Amino acid sequence: MIYREYGQTGKKLSVVGFGGMRFGPDEDYGAQVVQRANSLGINYFDTAPFYCNDRSEDIFGKAFKNMPGQYYVSTKSNVGKESTADQVRWRIENSLKRMGIDKINFFHMWCIMDLNQYDRVMAKGGPYEGALKAKEEGLIDHLVFSTHCKGSDIRKIIEDDVFEGVLLGYNVVNHAFRQEGVQAALENKLGIVTMNPLGGGLIPQHQDYFSLLKEREDETVSQAALRFNAAQEGITVVLAGMGTIEEVEENVKIVDHPLTVSKEKVQEIRSKITESMDMLCTACGYCNKCPQKINIPTYMEAYNLSILKDDQETKHRLNWLREQEKIKEDDAKTDACVACGICEELCTQKLPIIERLKEMSLKY
Ligand code: SF4
Ligand code: SF4
Repeated sequence: MIYREYGQTGKKLSVVGFGGMRFGPDEDYGAQVVQRANSLGINYFDTAPFYCNDRSEDIFGKAFKNMPGQYYVSTKSNVGKESTADQVRWRIENSLKRMGIDKINFFHMWCIMDLNQYDRVMAKGGPYEGALKAKEEGLIDHLVFSTHCKGSDIRKIIEDDVFEGVLLGYNVVNHAFRQEGVQAALENKLGIVTMNPLGGGLIPQHQDYFSLLKEREDETVSQAALRFNAAQEGITVVLAGMGTIEEVEENVKIVDHPLTVSKEKVQEIRSKITESMDMLCTACGYCNKCPQKINIPTYMEAYNLSILKDDQETKHRLNWLREQEKIKEDDAKTDACVACGICEELCTQKLPIIERLKEMSLKY
């Protein structure tokens, strides 16, 4: 395993981190997966309340009873669920109890979507205050944040100098849009953990298209996507969701080869994915607050296919969704969009949703 310094915390974390959002129903097996990861050198374990139907922290608790090596724990609190200092205190104590640990090494103010939400986190008597007190009492090592904000907002939060690290979505598909946030963290010497390196499954689901990421015959597309993240300057940990021992073993293999991406490959990726093509929807669901009740992620995922293949493929997908009643007869259609802009403001990929819906309503 390769270990990297996390900001100025003095902690060295494994470049491959374990994301605890993909456990299956068998909790004992889930604990074995965690232990196997630790035995292969992974020392950064990320969980959150509500992951895996709220079982993730319990599964880590089982695993932590018998870990083969040293490890660090990351968990979270979201201002939407815990908006006061007292509620965050309760959350911290609950997470400690569920995982059977004395201290949370990295505690995230979870999923800050914009500066209004950040203000709520930092409000007097609010979440940050509760977490800071817990830190002063030794229940937390480091206060950090996770975000889907645009780069300039991430920079503003970082420059307030209240956090020691950041967790952000970053992958080969969206990296151009996310680069400013990475750069701000780098300049301010924060630790950087990247989530969603496989684009919410988009990359492994479209192996043909993304095979251009591979630089060696014996490398899988997913390994190449993880390597792409790990090769970026400033990134400490690439967080990969893992639910099986096979996934763990495949992911740790990326450290068997240099964690670099050649200049030619970067150029090829830029010209094929981030310049000559539109950005892709990663099905994260954050935009799903349409006042017209349009199921935006479903439509944007279908639109992906016209980028990855052709319009015909999108048409097939929409027909299939209708047959399966995933789009029902009386659901809001693409032409119900009134261009209010709410979804585009929320979109983690900053996609031109309004334009795409309009195009879809004309074509399909
Ligand atoms: S812009 Fe259109 S799709 Fe987006 S939230 Fe508004 S009405 Fe819904
Ligand atoms: S349109 Fe944007 S916010 Fe919505 S699911 Fe896709 S990537 Fe996520």
